Amino acid sequence: HLLSQANITDDEVFRGVQGRSILNRMRLDGKVAYVTGGGQGIGRGFAHALGEAGAKVAVVDMDHTKAQAVVKELFLKGVHAIPIKADISKSDDVQRMVDTIVSKWGAIHIACNNAGINRNSASEDTSLEEWDQTFNVNLRGTFMCCQAAGRVMLKQGYGKIINTASMASLIVPHPQKQLSYNASKAGVVKLTQTLGTEWIDRGVRVNCISPGIVDTPLIHSEDLRPLVQRWLSDIPAGRLAQVTDLQAAVVYLASDVSDYMTGHNLVIEGGQSLW
Ligand code: NAD
Repeated sequence: HLLSQANITDDEVFRGVQGRSILNRMRLDGKVAYVTGGGQGIGRGFAHALGEAGAKVAVVDMDHTKAQAVVKELFLKGVHAIPIKADISKSDDVQRMVDTIVSKWGAIHIACNNAGINRNSASEDTSLEEWDQTFNVNLRGTFMCCQAAGRVMLKQGYGKIINTASMASLIVPHPQKQLSYNASKAGVVKLTQTLGTEWIDRGVRVNCISPGIVDTPLIHSEDLRPLVQRWLSDIPAGRLAQVTDLQAAVVYLASDVSDYMTGHNLVIEGGQSLW
């Protein structure tokens, strides 16, 4: 006890790692990030959070007008940002996205593979077309992004990949009918676990975030909107998540403070998966 008291000023807990405070170590100055599906909803929130923390941000979306609008918002805050039009279910688009960022900024440190789609049909009616569409974006697309960005990161010996999964990877939210969505998001968690453990000894961490039900345009689609009231009674927190409830998580996973975390699923759902 006396010894540890005597050494307190040498202690990293007291001084901060390399003399830096926790908040300072969560800064992302000099880092290059991209966010897929960055044109609206959760991705837009992630792009703002990473930019505010100091990163340069490529806002990637298949809807270029939306990506451009978010880039304009980021400019207003003094964030370096570019829009990139890409459909992450197409391998050529994914490779072009990565090449564009590397040629512009010379590196990719933070990859937010967030774009995803949702279909709602009874399992007995789920068409192969719906299944394939959902998997092509949510799982195959996320894999292609992880691989293309991961190759750059492995060469750098450094990288933080953050995939957007969903609470639906853990539970079956009632009364949604989302077989293809739930299965694809469970796949994102396993993809994350596998890459996270495979690449950590080469400096690349891979984690995912699983939001509960977030108030974004996605849940205001024709087939999901009627379910909102029902969901509210399933959430211990008593409200839907807002995009702002998720923003700090992406900065945490993108920054060096989370270096000892890999392959994991950060669940942010107001307690819904526990009820
Ligand atoms: P959203 O529909 O509001 O926005 C998605 C964005 O991604 C749009 O701008 C869209 O143009 C873009 N996009 C869709 N497909 C794309 C593709 N193939 N290539 C490039 N861009 C594409 O969705 P959101 O609610 O912000 O959801 C973002 C992510 O979070 C998704 O992966 C979703 O599954 C996941 N998620 C959402 C919720 C929720 O309740 N909203 C909950 C859990 C997980």
